[in-house]
Amino acid sequence: VNYLVNPLTGLAAMWASFQRSATAVERLSTVLDLEPESYGLPSYNKAINTVSSIRFQNVTFGYEYNQIIFDRFQLEIPVEKVVALVGPSGAGKSTLFNLLQGFHKPSEGDVFINNRSTADYSLEELRSAVAYVPQETFLFSGTIRENLQIARPNVTEMEITQACSQAFLHDYIMSLPEGYDTKIGERGIRLSGGQKQRLAIARAVLKNAPILLLDEATSALDSETELYVQKALQELMKNRTTIIIAHRLSTIQNADVIIAIENGKIVQMGSHEELLQNKGLYEKLYNIQYGREKRKPFRAVAE
Ligand code: ADP
Ligand code: MG
Repeated sequence: VNYLVNPLTGLAAMWASFQRSATAVERLSTVLDLEPESYGLPSYNKAINTVSSIRFQNVTFGYEYNQIIFDRFQLEIPVEKVVALVGPSGAGKSTLFNLLQGFHKPSEGDVFINNRSTADYSLEELRSAVAYVPQETFLFSGTIRENLQIARPNVTEMEITQACSQAFLHDYIMSLPEGYDTKIGERGIRLSGGQKQRLAIARAVLKNAPILLLDEATSALDSETELYVQKALQELMKNRTTIIIAHRLSTIQNADVIIAIENGKIVQMGSHEELLQNKGLYEKLYNIQYGREKRKPFRAVAE
C-alpha cells in the first residue's frame, strides 16, 4: 500500500492491520493467561521497583552495519553503589546507557536487569526502572511546574516542592515573583547551567526510579553551584544504583568503582586511589584534566 499517494486507504489499511494484531495479541494473552500490554499511556502498573542485578553479557553492538563498538563486552554493575564511567570521547560510554535503556539492542549477547533480558521487558517497564539525567537538560517552553510534572504522571504539589528542596532549587524558585508558575524558554526566564541541572535532578527525584543514569555536564560550574549540585546528587543517589559518565573530579572521587573504557573495552576498574597508582588511562585522563598540583585543593571542596 502506498500511504503517500492514497493517505485514507493507507490509514484504513494500517488501522485494519493494527486491529488484527491487537486481536491476535488479546487472543494469545488469553491463551497464555497473561495481561495484555497496554496500548495507551504509561500505567506504571508493571514498574520495576527494585533492582538486584544489572549485567552486560557478551554484548556485541554497533550502530551501523559492520561497525563494532562493543565486541563481547562483559560488565556486572554493582547494585546500590555509585559506578563512574570514564574514558575518551567516543569510547562507548553513552552507548552503554542506550543499551541499558533498551533504545538499542545488541546484535549478540544481552543486557540483563534482575536476571531478565531487557528485550523481555516492555519499554514501559524499562522506563520505570531508570531515571536518566542527560548531559544537556531538556526544557520545553512552559512553566517551571510543567517542566517538573513530566517526570511522572500525577505528581502532587507537595512532591514537587520536596523534590526541588532536595535539589536546592526551591528557594530560588520561590524568589521569583511567579514562583512555580514562572515561564521558562523563549518568552520566559533563562535558567543558568547549574539551575538547569538541578531541575533535572528534581525530575529524577520525582521519578524515584531504582537506577539512576547520569551523563554529567562537561561545562564548568562555579564552585558554589558545583557544591549544591553535588549535595543534591549525593541525596538522590542514596539507596539507588547509580552509573555516572563522569567528568568532574568530585564525582569520580566519591564513586565506589571507577571503570575506565577505551574503544569499547574496559581497560581499568577500581577506586580512585587504586587507579591513580597504575600508570594507565585513568591517570592520563586525570592529569590532562586537572594536573597534579590541583589535586589537594579540590579534595577540600569535595569533602
Ligand atoms: P562516548 O559517550 O564515550 O563519548 P559514544 O557511546 O557516544 O561514546 O560513541 C561510541 C561510538 O559510537 C563513537 O565512535 C560514536 O561516533 C559512535 N556513535 C554514537 N552514536 C552513534 C549513532 N547514533 N550512529 C552511529 N554511530 C554512533
Ligand atoms: Mg557520551
